[in-house]
Parts: sequence; structure tokens; C-alpha cells
Amino acid sequence: MSDKKKTEGQLSIHTENIFPIIKKWLYSEHDIFSRELISNAIDAMQKRKVVDASVNEDDLKIEIKINKKKRTLEFIDYGIGMTAEEIEKYINQIAFSGAEEFVEKYKDKQSSIIGHFGLGFYSAFMVAERVTIDSLSWQEGAEPAFWECDGSTSYTIDIGKRKKVGTTITLHLNKDSDEYLDFTKMRELIEKYSNFTPFPIVMDKKVINQKRALWNSKPTELKDEEYKQFYKDIFHDFNDPLFWIHLNVDYPFNLKGILYFPKVRNQLDLQRGVVKLYCNNVYVADNLQEFIPEFLLLLRGGIDIPDIPLNVSRSFLQQDQNVKKISKYIIKKVADYLNDLFKEDRKKYEQYWEDIHQFLKFGAISEESFYEAVKDIILFKNSDNEFVTLGEYRERNKDDKDVLKVLYASGEDSQSSYLKMMKELGKEVIYADTLIDNHLFQKIEMVDDKTTFSRVDSELSDELVNKEHTEILDADNKSELDILKEIFEKGLDNTNVKVDVKRLKDKEIPGLVIFNEFMRRMQEMNSIYANQQDDLLAHHDFVVNADNKIVKKLIKLNATGKDKEVSLLTKHLHSLSLLEQKNLSGKQLQEFLDNARKVLELI
Ligand code: ADP
Repeated sequence: MSDKKKTEGQLSIHTENIFPIIKKWLYSEHDIFSRELISNAIDAMQKRKVVDASVNEDDLKIEIKINKKKRTLEFIDYGIGMTAEEIEKYINQIAFSGAEEFVEKYKDKQSSIIGHFGLGFYSAFMVAERVTIDSLSWQEGAEPAFWECDGSTSYTIDIGKRKKVGTTITLHLNKDSDEYLDFTKMRELIEKYSNFTPFPIVMDKKVINQKRALWNSKPTELKDEEYKQFYKDIFHDFNDPLFWIHLNVDYPFNLKGILYFPKVRNQLDLQRGVVKLYCNNVYVADNLQEFIPEFLLLLRGGIDIPDIPLNVSRSFLQQDQNVKKISKYIIKKVADYLNDLFKEDRKKYEQYWEDIHQFLKFGAISEESFYEAVKDIILFKNSDNEFVTLGEYRERNKDDKDVLKVLYASGEDSQSSYLKMMKELGKEVIYADTLIDNHLFQKIEMVDDKTTFSRVDSELSDELVNKEHTEILDADNKSELDILKEIFEKGLDNTNVKVDVKRLKDKEIPGLVIFNEFMRRMQEMNSIYANQQDDLLAHHDFVVNADNKIVKKLIKLNATGKDKEVSLLTKHLHSLSLLEQKNLSGKQLQEFLDNARKVLELI
């Protein structure tokens, strides 16, 4: 090393700006230094492939070396390298003029920066107290160059030691950055940010990046197995995905990606969706909602958008027309795919339904264009255990009324008396057993005023009532119905419950609980927000069946003046009807059991 060559210099006068930015603004994102250094190395190798005909493709790789003793981290590449003059130009001048611009542009908007591209090489100073560059340019006769800077505004340039063409960047880590001396930590960073870089990244002689992002290949060239394996590798899921959508568009914007539909077996699975955004194979962020509408975040996948300026603010993204187009395009592609699947293989679509229904419903509720696109392929299970669309239901159940009333029940196991009655009447009932169905019904009713949804227990159908019976009045001018009404009102002693006495065709049923559809839905919504499950079913009508054997007995018992027993029995019949609607718990369960015991004592 000749001393003559050694120069010392001052970085440009504005440079004091850059280090506070690096250290403070981006404090929470220290990890990105590896992405930036790796990206620079890749650029340099891509350039070398173009300019240097003698280069052997197999030699092009990035090595990352950890030295725990010296507390250094080295990034070694085999790119075009830099001469001392180039370091002067690219690292000292260009980088800093870029920084100056950066400061100017974002000084008031620190928090809105996303992406942070362009900060580049100097991000190394987030984790290092001293950084050196040892580089040999590909140009003939070039001398290796060595640069060193300790994060202040002065640097030195000297002759370097590098023998092979390329660049070695050495970070002497600062005292807060020990974590980067850990192999696992560095591997995680590379998997996260640089998994799809076009050259191998080697640590401890092992290639640790995936290299190929499947979305860069043409769908026709890929086998199902490859899609599945890629999914498992990226999302660390043991299960195969259900299916996937390969996105690929060149115009009017550039976008490639794959969206996977995972198997969703529980609520937890629903929260594990993630859509990763990449820019030219470099990871940017998860779940950027400007590009990917919220409901699509139930899926898993990766999307690469090379042309989007990622180092701009969120508010810019929200106004950008291209961003809106991208979001629309993705929604349309997903809807098209599902529609095709429905048309081409209904059986298969039905098999997937359990895994995809939450996604479709959530999408339909939250995104108008998606609702329009999928409204005819939303399925409901009916009481014959068949899947039907609303269109099919309408076709089968249209009557002379203008508005179609869709009957639904919360499930096969609850509301069984009502289901039985509907079956006898030959009415088709669909099941709505998830919370989201309520919202969906509301949505459909809002956009389509010819459809309403009505739960089987929301009113008593006229067809269930026996109207042939002529009521006989007693000396007090009261019919049996009047007497029963009094008995039950007095016995239940509950102002929330409105007693209604009818003669039902089905004599087996002593009573039925009826909830007004609108009120019930309001209460359900409230209970979700206020978390008050207890009052959920408090207000309702109780229809007593005057033709039921047990009910008839109550009239006789009442005539003998056994008020206490009558009251016990009315309460018991009421509880049994309620039990069909919900699981009693806590205080209510206790009351029910106490009451039931007393009823048994009557024997
Ligand atoms: P950017 O990459 O956004 O241009 P950087 O500060 O990261 O900004 O890098 C500045 C310049 O330094 C690069 O454009 C490149 O010319 C040069 N450079 C950085 N790292 C390397 C490297 N590993 N090999 C060759 N040149 C490099």
C-alpha cells in the first residue's frame, strides 16, 4: 500500500443531514440495511453480466460472512466493482446529493415514508459505527480501492486488497447491533427481504435464498406441484392451498403475482392471511391496503409491482390513479376466477365453499364491485342439505308477491321445531350459521329491494294456525284462548315477554318463541359491540298452543286454584321453547334447573 495514494476528504457540506435521518427517522427499520446492500450487489452483478463477456455466471453470488470476534458483517459480491474515482463519484457525491434531496422532500413527513428506497448504501450506518468498501473494478488494469468512513463527515480512500473483481462491504457493527451477528437473524432477514433475488446468497456455504419467484414464470410453464411447493416454502404451511390465481399484466401497468386461497378451518386461520408486496423482486411490505383491498388480505400471496414509486407517502398512493387501477384489477381477477370455477366445476366449488365462504361474504360486504361480480355465486346450504344460490332459491320459491322472502334458520340443530313446521309446509329454508351472514343479508336487502330475509322464528306463518276452530265463551265471556293468555301472563310474570295464544296445526308443540326480525338483528349487532350476550333474546313473543295436551291440562290445574304449580309449569314450558334458541348459561341456567326440579316434585 503506498502512502501517496491515500487521500482524506470531507463529505459535502450538506452531509451532516444524512446521519441523523439514518439514525433517528428509520430507527424502527434497522433491518433494511441488508436489503439495501444486497440490492446494490445485485445491481452490480447484473451490470457485470452485460459489460463483461468473460464473466462466468456460476461465480456470480453474494456471500455474507459473520465474524463474531471482530463484530463484523461482510457483504461480498462479484459485480462490476468500483475504482477509487467511482467510489468518489457514486458513494461520496451522488449518494449524498441524493440524501440532500431526500431530506428536503421528507423533512416534514417522516412518518409517511414507506419503502425507503434510495437511501441505499448509507443505511449501513444504522447498524455500523464504521464501514469499509474494498472493491476491484472489472475494467482492465484497475487497482483495488479501499474506502473507510466512521459515520462522521470525513472519509479516507486508499488502495485496497481485493483480488477478484467485485466489492466487499464490511460493517463494524455498533454496540446496539449485536443481533446481526446471529446466523438465524441474518437468514430471516434475507428470507424476508431478498428471497427472490436473481443470484444466490450464500452464508456458511449454504444458499439461503429461494431465488425464483414463481410469479415471474409463465403460468403455462408451471406445474401444480410447483405452485404448492412454493406456497409451502413461503408461508410455512404444511397444508396444500386450495387453489391459486396467477396474476400477470403488462399494460396499462406492470404487475405479477400469485394469490393463494388457503384452507380455512377456524377463525384463527382467517387472521393468518398475508399478501407480500415486492418491487422488482425486493420485498417492500406486507398487506399494503392501497394496492390490496382489505378483504383480499384473508388470502396469502405475493405481488410484484415494479413501476410504482414506493418511496412516496401513503396519501400520494391513495390519490394515484394507477394504484386504484391496480386494486380494481386484482379484485376483478379474483372475481373472474371464482366465477369460472363456479361455472366449470360446480361440485368442486361446493367442496371449497366452507373454506372460501367467509372470504366471499366479507368481500361482497366490503367492496361494491366485488359484490356485483360474485352475488350470483354466493351459496347457501338449504334444509335438504343442498347448496343453492339466491337465484335458484328465487326461481323455486317465487310466488305472486313482489318481494321475495328468503327463509333462513341459524342451523340444523337449533330452531328444529320451526324447521319441522316449515318442512311440513313445503317451504325451503337456508342456513345462516355465521355472524357474517347477518351483515350479508343486510347488504343484499340494501341493494336489492325485492329481497328480504326472515328467520324462521321471526313470525308465525298463518299456514301453521288452525283457524277452523270456533271458540266457545264461558260465563265470563272468555274463550280458552283468553284464559290461557291470563294464565301465562300471570305465570311468567315477565313484561319482556308478550304472550299470544293460538291453535297450532302441529299439536305436539306446546309453545313457540318468536323474535321480531328487525329487533333481533339490532340486538345481535348491539351485543357484538357492547358484548352483552345476556339480553340478546330477552324481548320476544311467546306463542302458546291451546291445542297442546300439556297446555290443556294447565287450564284444568288453574281451575283448581293451584297457582304456584301453574306458574312453575308455564315457566318451564317457556324455558323449553327458549332452549331451542340458545344455550342457557350462568344465572339463567341455574333458574331453569331450579324450576325444573320443582316441576318434577309435582309428580
Ligand atoms: P442507489 O443504489 O440508490 O443508487 P446507493 O447509495 O445504494 O444508492 O449506491 C450509490 C451507488 O454506488 C450505486 O448506484 C452504485 O453505482 C454504487 N455501488 C453501491 N454499492 C455497490 C456495489 N456493491 N458494487 C458496485 N457499485 C456499488
